[in-house]
Amino acid sequence: MTIPSFSHAPIDIHSHFNHGSPFDWRLPDNPLHLRDLDFVLEEQRNVGIACGGFSTYASVLEHPECIVEENEYLHRLAGEDARIFQWVVIDPRLPETFCQAERMLPCKKTLGIKIHASHGYDIEEYADRIFSFVNEQRAVLLMHPQKVEKMASFANRYPDMKLIIAHLSSMEHIAAIREARYGNIYTDTSGGASNLNNVIEYAVNQVGSEKILFGTDAYACSFQFGRIALARLPHADKENILYKNAVKMFPNAFGEDV
Ligand SMILES: [Zn+2]
Repeated sequence: MTIPSFSHAPIDIHSHFNHGSPFDWRLPDNPLHLRDLDFVLEEQRNVGIACGGFSTYASVLEHPECIVEENEYLHRLAGEDARIFQWVVIDPRLPETFCQAERMLPCKKTLGIKIHASHGYDIEEYADRIFSFVNEQRAVLLMHPQKVEKMASFANRYPDMKLIIAHLSSMEHIAAIREARYGNIYTDTSGGASNLNNVIEYAVNQVGSEKILFGTDAYACSFQFGRIALARLPHADKENILYKNAVKMFPNAFGEDV
């Protein structure tokens, strides 16, 4: 089997990197999984990924106290580097992060808002607060999976929000997409669970490739790209996952010239 060719570079909507913050992902310091920005960008380049949507590791680990500073850092960096797009991280206990999101969302280099379970709050307690804000902003929310089976009931109150439940890896992801009354739940292929030998194919069969976006989560890009490029799927579905859905969801960022 040869790797098929595509008319457009893959868009990695979900990745992370370390940059020397005291809150970088360091423990355990692991030479088997490198995380510096230069390495992550080189990995992407090696498989032809033109650009990616990032949040810093520091901003999505157990240190919500650094989110504001990390958002500002990434906003500056995204403004300087064509390969880098931003997810603005919010924490519902930190009103300042909502102000940052409001300010940064209109920027072409901002894809949307990111929340992460590592910040240590219960999503059920805060889902309405977060989703109503995202809905008001008519924005996209990328969430690390948490209580996935409950998310459709929340999303069904907020038709102007788009919710990407990251790391396609469970029947609950697929059910959530199906239960979204306004068709506003999506998932991404990022992370290790796409090594399941039928997860991508099954999900496409159940909910269609239009609901699935490509991401790496800073794991091996060759694996992540190869998993989609060589999936047991029609070419058109692979195109949807690798870039077409991202271009459609983020027209300001990727509409023309990626
Ligand atoms: Zn991630």
